[in-house]
Amino acid sequence: MDSSGSSIKAGWGRDENGSFILRKVSTVAAEKTVIIIGGGIGGLTLALALRQRGVEARVYEKYDHFQNHRTGFLIWSYAIKILERLGVPVSEDGAALEVMEIYGAKGQFLTSLPVGEVSRESGADSYEINRLRLISRMSQMVGEQLHVGKDCISIEMDGERAVAHFSDKSQATGDIIVGCDGAKSTVRTFVQPSAKLEMFNAGGWIAVIDQHPADLKPGYHLDFWEPSVKGGVADIGNGEARWYVGMNGRLPESGRSIKEQILDVVPVVPTILNQCLELTSEDQMVPVIGGDLLTSEPWYRERVLLLGDAAHATSPYAGMGACSAIADAFLLSELLATTEDWPAVFESFENGRKPAAESIIKESRKNLHLSTGRGILKNKIRDWKLGHIPEKAKHQIVSEMVNGR
Ligand SMILES: Cc1cc2nc3c(=O)[nH]c(=O)nc-3n(C[C@H](O)[C@H](O)[C@H](O)COP(=O)(O)OP(=O)(O)OC[C@H]3O[C@@H](n4cnc5c(N)ncnc54)[C@H](O)[C@@H]3O)c2cc1C
Repeated sequence: MDSSGSSIKAGWGRDENGSFILRKVSTVAAEKTVIIIGGGIGGLTLALALRQRGVEARVYEKYDHFQNHRTGFLIWSYAIKILERLGVPVSEDGAALEVMEIYGAKGQFLTSLPVGEVSRESGADSYEINRLRLISRMSQMVGEQLHVGKDCISIEMDGERAVAHFSDKSQATGDIIVGCDGAKSTVRTFVQPSAKLEMFNAGGWIAVIDQHPADLKPGYHLDFWEPSVKGGVADIGNGEARWYVGMNGRLPESGRSIKEQILDVVPVVPTILNQCLELTSEDQMVPVIGGDLLTSEPWYRERVLLLGDAAHATSPYAGMGACSAIADAFLLSELLATTEDWPAVFESFENGRKPAAESIIKESRKNLHLSTGRGILKNKIRDWKLGHIPEKAKHQIVSEMVNGR
């Protein structure tokens, strides 16, 4: 079978004189075929989930390397359960998160959230993960159904089939196409031609380092909520750590030392962040600009559907976008396995996932301002409240994150 999903077969036919001849005929694969554009967390989860349900899926990823995934992320228990169900050994690529500590406007300790305990009550640990390790592993699991170096440039319909065109002039044809190609989705230009990402005047850097800063305890994630800036450091297992700095009201500047920029904007530089900076070279720091997509347009058109950031890009301040893409993929696999009534599947998928996805986007916007507030009095009140959360309320807050509610 070629990359388009068509197979070349020999078949009997008649020539113009009516004589039987043996000739090559091209036939489109008869089975239900799902074409997935984008081999990030959403696309790979969908491919594995569909395989588990016996549905053929092929993934087309723009890059032939994993360098665009040189970051880490926190995957909450509800999404970890899905990955584990698909046979992904997450514990090999990350560290179970035990405790999240939050520090306030003046660098003071505020609170400690029992993520490990509440996650296990919900049935699985939450994990801080090295994204590159996880994506490489899941890519290997998808195996020969993953086609790399395939930059999708456009989508079109061909009768009852959907066709993706790539920059190398090849194409892939399937019953449906699922756009899992991230926040700057190309597939979205077919589904929602007028939708636009809203970019914020907020950005920063994220990095993964192959060492632990001296002050980082195993299973810990520390968050620093200072005026105009949020920072974080977390254990991601395998002796590695991730850290980030996010600025509000400012964007990363190119052509200037990143460390200098960070030291300029963080009012009270936590010792552990300093340790991280010392262990990180500038080219390990990945610049990020916050943005999101809230649109009332449907997530599908004809035989093409959007999933994950392509449908509902979220800014990183809620730490939930990847979890949301995983949950999307799982629900879609369930729906696709039961019927070929695509419009019904697409509608149920959107109805099932849109409320949660939109609430994450809104929560993330709120978190940006809550964690980087500039008002002295507002920060005092916030910090006092965070420092006095009753144990029962802490449990409730963590439970909502762990269960994706
Ligand atoms: C700094 C930062 C921190 C974050 N932290 C967290 C966190 O802690 N927890 C969490 O749950 N979420 C987090 N997120 C959000 C999360 O990263 C995204 O929501 C998630 O990656 C979305 O998954 P996706 O598969 O939809 O898209 P992506 O992960 O962006 O994957 C899209 C894939 O499509 C490929 N692609 C793009 N264009 C094309 C094309 N034209 N043709 C073919 N392939 C294409 C890309 O190369 C990529 O591999 C964070 C985001 C950022 C920026």
